[in-house]
Amino acid sequence: MEISLKKVNSGYDEIILENVNMEIEECSWTFIIGKTGSGKSTLLQTIGFLLNNIQGEILWKGINLSNSQNLKKFREATGYMFQYTEKQFFNNTIKEEIEYILIKKKVSREEIDRNVNEVLKLLKLSNEILNKSPYEISGGQKRLVALASILVTSPKLLLLDEPTAGLDLENKKLFFDVLKQLKNKGVTIIQISHLFEDVLEYGDKVFLLENKKIINEGVPLK
Ligand code: ATP
Ligand code: MG
Repeated sequence: MEISLKKVNSGYDEIILENVNMEIEECSWTFIIGKTGSGKSTLLQTIGFLLNNIQGEILWKGINLSNSQNLKKFREATGYMFQYTEKQFFNNTIKEEIEYILIKKKVSREEIDRNVNEVLKLLKLSNEILNKSPYEISGGQKRLVALASILVTSPKLLLLDEPTAGLDLENKKLFFDVLKQLKNKGVTIIQISHLFEDVLEYGDKVFLLENKKIINEGVPLK
């Protein structure tokens, strides 16, 4: 299993999700769906071990994430995209934004350039975008840049919170095509969506949340 949650309670100051049990297979594409406020983002942040308030067991490839060394390895292998990514740019230029994690990890200049070029090509972004500021690009481009800044680290697990919300059809298709290619290369994807058509087209597994509980899980019929 890529991820197992066993009797997990999680939340912020207060516990929001109670007794969550979940199994996610390696190289699968999992969707989390449910109404506004049902707990989707909280669940995704729980899977990503991003909340302070987590009780129970979260295993990644069988190892427990409450151990700090395991958590460090998990972080290195995981790419997380927050909901409403537009608001979360930290750097002055797109180039700095995309390279940020690699520079922090002290990756060599050659390797950074190689990775960035590869990802730009994959996402069909032109080199010119690198010199722009996050304020000069469209909402759709921001999404693609946010994905680029995750993909340069070659993550094995992607946690994506409504990544295509607000994208036009063309960019959405591009986004999904890229995710499909990554899945074919062995990446595991866990994604929140509001659209059942996405689940039907791409999902291997779907979890339905209602009122902060998983009320159903299954394999979408194609
Ligand atoms: P949406 O579709 O609007 O994104 P969601 O399904 O992602 O909704 P969550 O954001 O997980 O829902 O919210 C679930 C519950 O957790 C809500 O009752 C919300 O008030 C609470 N909650 C979410 N974020 C926080 C936070 N930062 N601090 C405290 N409570 C929060
Ligand atoms: Mg949400």
